[in-house]
Amino acid sequence: MSRIFLKSPAAVWTGLPEVDEKQGACGGIVIEAGRIVEHVAAGAAPTLPVDEEFDCRDRVLIPGLINCHHHFYQTLTRALPAALNKELFEWLVNLYPVWAGLDEDCIRLSTKLALAELMLSGCTTASDHHYLFNREVTAAIDIQVAAAQEMGMRVVLTRGSMSLGTSSGGLPPDCVVQDEAAILEESERLIKAYHDAGDGAMTQIALAPCSPFSVTPELMQASADLATQYGVLLHTHLAETQDENQFCLDRFGQRPLDYLESVGWLRPGVWLAHGIHFNDEEVERLGKHRVGVSHCPSSNMMLASGMSRVLELEALGAPVGLGVDGSASNDCSNMMEEVRQAFLLQRLQYGSARVTHHDALRWGTSGGAGVLGRPELGRLHLGAQADLALFRLDELRFSGSHDAIAALVLCGAHRVSDLMVAGQWRVRDGNIPGLDLAQLRAEHSDAARRLALRASA
Ligand SMILES: [Zn+2]
Repeated sequence: MSRIFLKSPAAVWTGLPEVDEKQGACGGIVIEAGRIVEHVAAGAAPTLPVDEEFDCRDRVLIPGLINCHHHFYQTLTRALPAALNKELFEWLVNLYPVWAGLDEDCIRLSTKLALAELMLSGCTTASDHHYLFNREVTAAIDIQVAAAQEMGMRVVLTRGSMSLGTSSGGLPPDCVVQDEAAILEESERLIKAYHDAGDGAMTQIALAPCSPFSVTPELMQASADLATQYGVLLHTHLAETQDENQFCLDRFGQRPLDYLESVGWLRPGVWLAHGIHFNDEEVERLGKHRVGVSHCPSSNMMLASGMSRVLELEALGAPVGLGVDGSASNDCSNMMEEVRQAFLLQRLQYGSARVTHHDALRWGTSGGAGVLGRPELGRLHLGAQADLALFRLDELRFSGSHDAIAALVLCGAHRVSDLMVAGQWRVRDGNIPGLDLAQLRAEHSDAARRLALRASA
């Protein structure tokens, strides 16, 4: 069994305050069988013999970042003229007809491209919310599982769904909504085929009806029952915009959180994308029931949706992680940049003394692990999964910086030198071994062009 010593990093942020207080005093960590087995003191040698030594003197080491909300397919509709300068509902109405033209090639290429982009930005665990199914796209999640396995990425893939079309008072056109019995049958098939409940799982499945304005209460309730039956997580968009709050009041006579509670979702094992427009009592209720929130600062700024009350949610008990959200509302998939955006946006809300770079890194690592119910991820404790991101601070933007960990966030680190997932190197010297990025980009761009053409035809 091979044992790897990551020797003498320039700086380490483990996510464990008791270790990080002695920052600079770390001699490295030892990895064996995909896990962290030793913290080595500065100047000391590992207690067990090692097979491989990796000199990290010019690298900063942090736990791999965890992305809690994304729509990989949206990488095909970045900066699309029809969707520019709009807020959520209008933005969606302009994009649904384009997304209606997705085919399975689009799913494969967008998944690979988004995963590559995430890996290069320091992400080791990615969640995706795929809810767009049409006649052409039936095996989207199977395709995503295969792509993630091929690339060695840890994923929580959600079987998303939409069942409330325009003709029934929903927002999406009828051509992209599905029959509820078919959604549930497919959800069950995917859980049985791919969900690994074990410690260190590389592939998990969760259930994710899209939003209050695109699914019925019956599907929300039935998805919750199925999730309980199989012990999988539940995910949805909630309280993203004032328009959504108004939709819930008009259609259900309830605010979004009351609606969520009425369909059996106010419980641990549920996480919400955005979670912005909650009042004080609702923030308290989310904390009490340990409902997680994926804060998506770039998307929230791009669509002018608002700001999630991250510090209060965390303080009251709700797990909080970060998500890049779909690449049509970001419009990139860079997880380290998202950490910086969360840092900046939450400082604007709470003041610079109350939000530190440690907070932003925590949301991007152990916070996300808490949201996804994965204590073996997000921190570099003994026994944790060896999911690691290494950054070199040799770009112009870092020159003159003094605190290497603060510099990652303040100077804007955005690309790793090396990345390890479950003890396997997935990025080396800024490249993904075995992946022809130029070819992937060319094929992905072609698919994006074809998709836009199909919509205008
Ligand atoms: Zn989203």
